[in-house]
Amino acid sequence: MSATSLPQRPYRRIATEEAFSPPQMLEIYRRILDKPDVDVGFKHLMGFYMQSPSERAQHIMRCLVDLDDLRLQHMDEAGVDVQVIGLTSPGVQIMDKDTAVAFAPVANDLLADAMRRHPDRLVGMIAVAPQDPQAAAREIERGVQQLGMHSVVINSHTQGEYLSDPKFWPIFEAAQALDTPIYLHPNAMPASMIQHFIEAGLDGAIYGFGVETGLHALRLITAGVFDRFPKLQIILGHMGEALPFWAYRLDYMHAATVKSQRYPSVQPLQRKPSDYLRENFHITNSGVAWGPALKFTQDFMGPDRVLYAMDYPYQYAPQEVEILENLDMAPQVRKAFFQDNAERLFKIAPAKPSI
Ligand code: MN
Repeated sequence: MSATSLPQRPYRRIATEEAFSPPQMLEIYRRILDKPDVDVGFKHLMGFYMQSPSERAQHIMRCLVDLDDLRLQHMDEAGVDVQVIGLTSPGVQIMDKDTAVAFAPVANDLLADAMRRHPDRLVGMIAVAPQDPQAAAREIERGVQQLGMHSVVINSHTQGEYLSDPKFWPIFEAAQALDTPIYLHPNAMPASMIQHFIEAGLDGAIYGFGVETGLHALRLITAGVFDRFPKLQIILGHMGEALPFWAYRLDYMHAATVKSQRYPSVQPLQRKPSDYLRENFHITNSGVAWGPALKFTQDFMGPDRVLYAMDYPYQYAPQEVEILENLDMAPQVRKAFFQDNAERLFKIAPAKPSI
């Protein structure tokens, strides 16, 4: 089915936090899951999806590995014209360094092949291995210059390490130089923080992902990443992992913490935490089809920094497209949300006119 057979509407729907997994990556995951010392968060995340007999898990696995007919069929059924696709969490970040550095380009090449097969429908994000920041920087450059991708996906922490550590900053240097936003996507929590969430069944997308990814984003702010890389853009899903709602308290308490010199890690910044959120971040609504939260986020961020996302296949819920469609929103804001902001941020070529 081609894009021209989709119902006409005054904009393209571009979903910006959609996931895939090469079958080859699942083979590597199986070997990791077989190890006696497998990371508890990884076991709870991909161990569940890959091994559960539940219909939901098996359906998600079928969708994850498909970059052709099944995916396009689901996009058509939901009225999604374009998917912006990232390597599903935790990507290569759970692998040992050598395997991760070797596999990221394999995954990117497979995604680039799919983009060539479906140029109007699929847009890729560049997967990188933060385990080797220099190699990651080179892969960003290759992704932009050779694969025609213009964004990066990083699945939050890498085996308990955060990008606030300056050893990772060659990645930010490359992203800023090449004007590639980084989608900071959730990962399962590191072992050091997950236990209290698991015992309550709250470690996953229901809550834990947002807590951990929100922490990661705040660590970038307080570490001064955006003073060092003022043009860097980070994308957060799930309505900004609730950070817009925190903005007032973050500003107040950051100023108070700096003043009291309570932590060596909290130093004065050039701007307020909320300024960085508004100027160095974009937010998608992935997984949150809820009008009041979307309106608040658009008010806080400005309508040009809030984008549509479905979170396919983990939250394939076509009725949510309709909910969002029917929200009380000015036509130009709706078009910015579904189309314009994504085209600008991910450098997506305009649709060819249908004849
Ligand atoms: Mn997601």
